[in-house]
Amino acid sequence: MHPSFRKKHVIKLLCRFCDSYVCRRGMKAVLLADTAVELYSTDSPISGKVSSVGKSYSTKKCTCKICDVACTSCGNILGYHVMLPCTSCLQSCNNGHLWIFNSNTVWAESRLNQSATEMLKWDSLPDAASEQDSELDEWDNYFQEMECCR
Ligand SMILES: [Zn+2]
Ligand SMILES: [Zn+2]
Repeated sequence: MHPSFRKKHVIKLLCRFCDSYVCRRGMKAVLLADTAVELYSTDSPISGKVSSVGKSYSTKKCTCKICDVACTSCGNILGYHVMLPCTSCLQSCNNGHLWIFNSNTVWAESRLNQSATEMLKWDSLPDAASEQDSELDEWDNYFQEMECCR
């Protein structure tokens, strides 16, 4: 990943329509073509929380093959997934993230480091594969806590 991305904060994303978490490793991005549009990108959404819908298509901008991505909890479209990046996008400076969420369809929340003392940055974030495991642990702990409170 390009060094300029490593200093960015890690962001958690929630669906604006139903408040469910769809991503724990988001990054704030701005479309080069239209700097007024705020977007969030990720290398890996939470598995099962979003899914691609409909046929793939290309925009006028380039020949990337993309498809819409919807929240699996409520069905609303949240953004898009680049299924097949075009050569010009691959060659330009990008963060390698192929999932894009619109800032008007998701809520963003800063993610804290493990001791919750400061905001987590991308250079201290574990890769997506090892993250999936720790995510399960976190959920287990969460449910155990709930159990105690009852
Ligand atoms: Zn492209
Ligand atoms: Zn939703």
